[in-house]
Order: sequence, then C-alpha cells, then structure tokens
Amino acid sequence: MSNEVSAKLLDWYDRHARRLPWRAPPGRPPMDPYRVWLSEIMLQQTTVAAVAPYYEAFLTRWPTVADLAAAPQEAVLTAWAGLGYYARARNLHRCAQVVAAEHGGRFPDREAELRELPGIGAYTAAAVAAIAFGRRAVVVDGNVERVVARLFRVETPLPKAKGELKALAEGITPERRPGDFAQAMMDLGATVCLPRQPKCLLCPLQDLCRGHGDSVAQELPRRLPKAAKPTRHAVAFWLAGPEGALLLRRRPEKGLLGGMMEVPSTPWRESPWTPEEATAAAPLEAPWRALPGQVRHTFTHFHFAVEVWAATAVEAPDTAPAEGRWVALDRLDGEALPTVMRKIIDHGLKATAVPAPAGTADD
Ligand code: SF4
Repeated sequence: MSNEVSAKLLDWYDRHARRLPWRAPPGRPPMDPYRVWLSEIMLQQTTVAAVAPYYEAFLTRWPTVADLAAAPQEAVLTAWAGLGYYARARNLHRCAQVVAAEHGGRFPDREAELRELPGIGAYTAAAVAAIAFGRRAVVVDGNVERVVARLFRVETPLPKAKGELKALAEGITPERRPGDFAQAMMDLGATVCLPRQPKCLLCPLQDLCRGHGDSVAQELPRRLPKAAKPTRHAVAFWLAGPEGALLLRRRPEKGLLGGMMEVPSTPWRESPWTPEEATAAAPLEAPWRALPGQVRHTFTHFHFAVEVWAATAVEAPDTAPAEGRWVALDRLDGEALPTVMRKIIDHGLKATAVPAPAGTADD
C-alpha cells in the first residue's frame, strides 16, 4: 500500500498544493534552506495566516541567515512579538548565530546535524532535511498523525500512539520527492482530512483509508482525556510616569515569555492576590486603584487572570523604579510585548482614558 499512498498523494499535490510564500511549486527545486527553516519555526503552534506577515517582515529585514545572526536579540524579539511561544524567537536567533559562526552560513543538510542546532527538534529537522534538501526523512506533526491514524485505523490513543504513528508514516514515505510528500501530507491534513469533519469524498486516499472504510474516521485519532487547565492569578501595575509614559520591565531570560517586555506585576500563582499582598509587591508606594474588569489569556498549560491596578508616580523619578523603564505610549509598538501584555495595556488604556468634556466630542 505504501507506494500507492505516495503515488496518489503526490499526484493530488501536483494539482492542489497550497501556494505559500515559503514554498516552491510541486516538482520544482526547493527554496533556500534559510526560508524553509524560518517558516517551519514560525509555523510551530501557529496558523499559516498568522505566520505569513511575520515571515515577509523577517525576510525583508534579515534576507539571509547571516543578517539575522548579526541582529540584536532585542530587535528579533520585537519583530516576533505577537507570534507567541517566545522561546522560539530566542532559539531562532541563537540558531542563526550558530549556523553563521560554525557552519559558514549554510544549514547542514542532514537530520542528525540539524537536530544539534538550537530550537530544532525531531519534527523541524526532518522537515528541513526533506523540504530544503530532498532527503528522505519522516516528517510527523499533528496533521500527519491525524491522517496516518485514520488511514491505518490506529485505535491506540495519543500520546501513546506516537511511536506507532511514526513507524506507519515511515512506511509510506517515498524515496522520490520526500519534500513534496511531506508537504502533501501537511496539506491533506490542513485542507481535506480535517480534525472535525474530514472531507473524505474529496480525498485522494479515500479508497485506501481504513478509517473511512470502517466509518470511524471522524473519531480518530483517539486521545486520552486531558487534565483541566489550572488558572493562575496576578495583579499588574499600570504606573504612569513622566508625561504619561508607562513603566515596563524586561522579564528574566529564562522561562515563560523570557526576555520579553512586560507591565510589572506580582508573581503569577494559583490563588488570587489579596489587596495587602498585591500592595506589598507593587513597584513603589502610591495610591493604587483597581481598574474595573479583568484581563484573561490562555497559555498552553494554564489560564491567566490579571487584575490591573493603576497609579501615577507623583514625583516622577528620572530613573524608573523596579528595574523598569518609562516608555512613551506612542512608542509601545517598538517594544517586544507579547500578546498577553498587549491585552493588559489595551485594558489599562481604556480604563484610564480621560472622558472628553461634554460638548467637545466630534459629531
Ligand atoms: Fe482522512 Fe477521509 Fe482521506 Fe481517510 S479518506 S485520509 S479520513 S480525508
């Protein structure tokens, strides 16, 4: 069945491949490995639509891996802001530096060497080896797992089924055109073999697919029930300083949102903060007031609920408190602010906006 799967899938791909900015047309020489790698890192946990503008912006600013390697980390984090999973941006930058310094600016072409580079795991190494270098590599992401689980009717639940699914994917990966095959599997998973409602009638693998033949496709892959996500709580401190500038600080290099900018806050923990506890954690003594409402955000492993307290630094100090710095409100776009911090800032801006005096509004 393996040859039949790849032949049918490649034939389908030749006619239906998605046109993506980082992709060479079917059967054509591959794109520059830098582009393939950049797109694969950006696409982890993120949609094609969200990635496209970031991909173009990165390439315009840093057309080669050497350009990216020479950029300050701050600039890379700022350009990445909004894409999420910020460890990826730091690793992206480190990886570019290693490729520039230790590999003469050329990505290695084998999976094992690619895996030695920062931020490149099994999936990305296989994807770059197959797509950029035409090496036979087994590329398995969530989309591919779903297609394979259905095609072979794998009843073992994920994550236990991962090894089994990879072995089955290996069995259908061809020697010829492995890069196109990997991208064809991704496209099939993204456009036809959809998680909720697979479009089996449009599928080139329909007559080979056991899940479809046995009418269980939609139920696959099976999954062990997930543990409920906990909620973490924090109080963020909206401190207005000189000429309304906002106090921001940099998060520690290691850990969640490492190296990104933030509105100073209490630590994040699983019980809500009492006013006394939050006051003790504020960046300075001031008449803090709680703004109405709450900011909510969901990370991979927890929900986050944030109260925002506001105050004005009466005698605005020249140097900002709490190891932070003052940022003018019209300069916020130039900061490496992750999405959750943008939500907190939007909340603060709305809640602290001074209402226009009666009769002055534009009609
Ligand atoms: Fe997925 Fe249906 Fe195609 Fe099977 S036939 S691979 S379930 S879309």
